[in-house]
Order: sequence, then structure tokens, then C-alpha cells
Amino acid sequence: MHNTPKQPYTGPLNLGGCEFGMQFNVAQLQKESIGSLRSFTIDESYDTDQEAEETIAGSVQLMRTDQGIWVSASLTIRLRTTCSRCLQPTYCQLPITIEEEYFPSLNISTGASLQPRESDAGGALIDNHHILDLYEALRQYHIVNMPMKPLCRSACRGLCPNCGTDRNLINCSCSMSSVDNHMNLNAQFSNA
Ligand SMILES: [Zn+2]
Ligand SMILES: [Zn+2]
Repeated sequence: MHNTPKQPYTGPLNLGGCEFGMQFNVAQLQKESIGSLRSFTIDESYDTDQEAEETIAGSVQLMRTDQGIWVSASLTIRLRTTCSRCLQPTYCQLPITIEEEYFPSLNISTGASLQPRESDAGGALIDNHHILDLYEALRQYHIVNMPMKPLCRSACRGLCPNCGTDRNLINCSCSMSSVDNHMNLNAQFSNA
């Protein structure tokens, strides 16, 4: 059952679906006995533009169950993002674990269409061409796990709210005085 995450979409997720090799043809596996396994090592990278390289790496294991295919995936996605404090381009690493059963939409022996069950309404389905596509799962795990406020480094000093200077690069002169003003204001309130 997929629940639509409430968080806004924050990252430049362009996993590319099939380009990322996240589609698996499970026609053969569905004909094998329960417990049959396929293991895949994933190590893909692509350029989102001239300079940025995003990657996905890890392992995917598919196991035949009595009714479908159980997916166990352990992946790390490296995505380009923007530091929420200094607004500079940076990367974040997202570990993603998928444990989910996918159900066929066709009977593998007869080719007859199977009625989707109530619990499958969210879409963990193997399509009519016996393709198991992890894209939607990756997209949803990505949305849930993407840091809401990504940072280029934990100690990023961000932009000066007054003059906009990147305080990782330059110490602007206004930062101290605005802190002073703030403290003076607090002092006035506490004296009142
Ligand atoms: Zn930063
Ligand atoms: Zn400043």
C-alpha cells in the first residue's frame, strides 16, 4: 500500500526510470518455483548537465513468492541538490531500502488479466509485459527521505540575511551589528 507522502517534492529527482536500469523483466522468474531468486548489482551514473553526476548503486534481489515477486533492494542514490543555507549546489546521499511485494497483472501461464486486489490499488504491480519497475518505489522513498533542508556541510554559515554575502566565503561587517541590535532589542524587552 502506497501512501502519498505529504512532503513537497524537494529534489531534482530525475531517476530516469528505464535509463537507470530499474526495470526488470520477471517473465521467466514468475514461471519458476517459489523461492527462486535473481540478484542484481546496480551501479549506474548519469550526467544531469555538463558538470553534475548523479549515481545509484547497490543491490536488488527478486524472489518468487506464491503470488508475485518480493523485492529486497538496498540502494544509495547520490543526487544533486541545493544547500538550504548558502544556496550553493551540493550533493546528498540517500540510502534507500525497498522491501515490497509486486503482483502480476496477468496470469503468467494463461495470459488472462488478473483482478487487482484492494491492497494493490497503490500500484505495486508487474505490468502486462512482465516488467517489474522500481521507479515509483524509488520516487516515493526519495520524497520521504530527501532532507527537507539539505546542507553543503553541517557547519554551513549560510547567507547574511542583511547583505546576502555567503558567510562561508567572506565575513561581512553587518553580521555583528545586526546581532548587536537583536540583543539590544531583547535587552529592552527584558527591562520592560
Ligand atoms: Zn551551504
Ligand atoms: Zn552582511
